[in-house]
Amino acid sequence: MTSFIPVNTPLLDGNEAEYLAECVRTGWISSEGPFIKRFETEMARVAGRRHGVAVTNGSVALDIAVHALGLEPGAEVIIPTFTIISCAAAVVRAGLVPVGVDCDPGTWNMTVEGVEAAITPRTRAIMLVHIYGLPVDLDPILTLARKHDLKIVEDAAEMHGQTYRGAPCGSFGDVSTFSFYPNKHVTTGEGGMILTDDDALSDRLQSLRNLCFQPQQRFVHEELGWNARMTNLQAALGVAQIEQLPRTVELKRKLGRLYDEHLEGVAGIRRPVARTNYADNIYWVYAIVLDDDVPFDAKEAMRRLAEKGIGTRPFFWCMHEQPVLRRMGYMLDEAHPHAERIARRGFYLPSGLALTEAEIARSAQALKEILA
Ligand SMILES: *Cc1c(COP(=O)(O)O)cnc(C)c1O
Repeated sequence: MTSFIPVNTPLLDGNEAEYLAECVRTGWISSEGPFIKRFETEMARVAGRRHGVAVTNGSVALDIAVHALGLEPGAEVIIPTFTIISCAAAVVRAGLVPVGVDCDPGTWNMTVEGVEAAITPRTRAIMLVHIYGLPVDLDPILTLARKHDLKIVEDAAEMHGQTYRGAPCGSFGDVSTFSFYPNKHVTTGEGGMILTDDDALSDRLQSLRNLCFQPQQRFVHEELGWNARMTNLQAALGVAQIEQLPRTVELKRKLGRLYDEHLEGVAGIRRPVARTNYADNIYWVYAIVLDDDVPFDAKEAMRRLAEKGIGTRPFFWCMHEQPVLRRMGYMLDEAHPHAERIARRGFYLPSGLALTEAEIARSAQALKEILA
């Protein structure tokens, strides 16, 4: 019996253990420790920003980022329908209204045509979410945003080390966010960060993540915040992970290349787009969409792959098809055929950094067998 290949396997072979041991040795384990500032500074450098504010995860990073924009209640925020629930949740929790946009059938990212059609007199912001390894085609959307005076929230959770026309992902929002979950290119176990160039906004983000304690009267509050403070232990991991980021990007691109070689010419699937005129794929995950003539869907494909010892994950489920949002009356009149289709026919193969070439070959072979 061959072993199971998990969908994600992190690689922690740099200075992670040493920096963690330093936290334990010095007793600096809380959010007051010195690795926090180092991690924030390093991530801000990676993303080309002035300020980084470390938080407990990428979802709360979005919550705080959207809240910090201070938009009036009931204002509309345009989001891709093909994304993680965190994006819609952040909008709804801030008292705002999510409006969905379909994705491009090739890159799976939100399109400028979709965004343009979704703008109404109540629109105040666009949430850009880069999906699975290729950035959103930003320039035309940013031009639209300027024209309509809309704020930009950029969710770069899957894009550490990726660029758009040479500029780092994470550098494009009024606020931009990252996640450091174990399947992200930089991981701290759990963790997130909010980035901005705006000094006042950065102060506000720091206050919001720290319960809005006040410097003069600590336990008197003018506003409700979050305890979203990252620990020094997590930041220590993050600093070590950033040291490895160039290698991580290289490994991910190699993973994409290897899968492409194994799967070239295989009928019945759409593979990830390797490059566009604005970016080369960074393969956060190696994702597959089944063609319509394949007589089963992603769920069945994943079941068959699991039987062969291959771990997979389904694609995101559309926001406009989420029971929780529909019950709340959001996104009721929306239909987004491309996103609806890939949500049902898409899944991803093992894509972790510790994956061996033999495991990639075995995963690709298993996919070929279930399609044959
Ligand atoms: C992972 C992810 C998040 C959420 O990050 P967590 O740290 O898991 O909360 C948000 N947005 C996108 C696009 C993600 O991939």
